[in-house]
Amino acid sequence: RAKADGRNGFRFFEQEMDSSMQQRRMLERDLRLALQNDEFEVHYQPIVDMATGRVSCFEALLRWTHPERGAVSPAEFIPLAEEIGLIGEIGAWVLQRACDAAAGWPAHVRIAVNLSPAQFRSQLLLDQVAQALSQAGLDPQRLELEITESVLLRQSELVLSILKQLRGMGVRVSMDDFGTGYSSLGYLRSFPFDKIKIDRSFIRDIEKSGDALSIVRAITGLGTSLGMTTTAEGVETFEQLNQLRSEGCNEVQGFYYSPAVRLDAVPALLDGIGADHHGNTSAASNSR
Ligand code: C2E
Ligand code: MG
Ligand code: MG
Ligand code: MG
Repeated sequence: RAKADGRNGFRFFEQEMDSSMQQRRMLERDLRLALQNDEFEVHYQPIVDMATGRVSCFEALLRWTHPERGAVSPAEFIPLAEEIGLIGEIGAWVLQRACDAAAGWPAHVRIAVNLSPAQFRSQLLLDQVAQALSQAGLDPQRLELEITESVLLRQSELVLSILKQLRGMGVRVSMDDFGTGYSSLGYLRSFPFDKIKIDRSFIRDIEKSGDALSIVRAITGLGTSLGMTTTAEGVETFEQLNQLRSEGCNEVQGFYYSPAVRLDAVPALLDGIGADHHGNTSAASNSR
């Protein structure tokens, strides 16, 4: 009883002290243990090819279930992992998981993995990618690496050299969250990306804002003329989907189709999405 009170007292004290600094330190401590405690899971969000209506790719999205706090957003823990030097280890783990998963899917389905700026500080990334591919037995053509403009902000010589070597291995490279940075356009000239992912913020406003629509139209045209695939992120409605189709966008990703799901839910998405467009009445399409 006394012990319990003591603990509660201590908790209360901690809460009083609860500066964001202290919160952060606790999260940091827990993040260091998350990998060994098996608290991470990779989820997979389908990306749909407009031409076929079928899933062409899945994006690997990391999930962390904290023992007390529950789900913590990657928007919170990824930057923290970067700051405390954990992203290399975590990133390598995600890569291996994702490649292993994709190796079990039909050969036309690719896997996209997000990379952080900190993963480009050395050539180590090249070894990690090569290792993940060979251990999984995955064709490099089936791996897409997503980077944001922030990757290119610093040490762009080293980064560009690593990107070129990755491409030399046969891996595809995508520019993520396109349109949100300061010089996204300039970066399109510095490296031949395979894919441009149009940021969700433009898709969200595509119906109510003529400006957002104009920007999406411009990015799609740009991507097409540069020979890059264009993918719209954050598609939530049928109206957005139709608009993007008429703009000539190549791929769509968003809650309209599905959020990221656990690995065991991937086969149902592969069978279900787009099945009815083809008049396919297999058992799989009935299971939707
Ligand atoms: P991102 O790479 O741009 O990933 C897309 C994000 O948009 C995901 O958020 C996804 O759940 C969300 N999203 C997809 N469709 C919709 C939609 O229709 N509506 C809305 N509102 N959201 C949608 P998530 O999973 O929270 O990830 C956030 C960011 O964290 C990612 O943005 C990526 O930058 C980073 N991240 C996630 N996993 C990893 C990882 O393994 N490594 C690294 N370095 N970063 C990661
Ligand atoms: Mg991404
Ligand atoms: Mg994105
Ligand atoms: Mg993003």
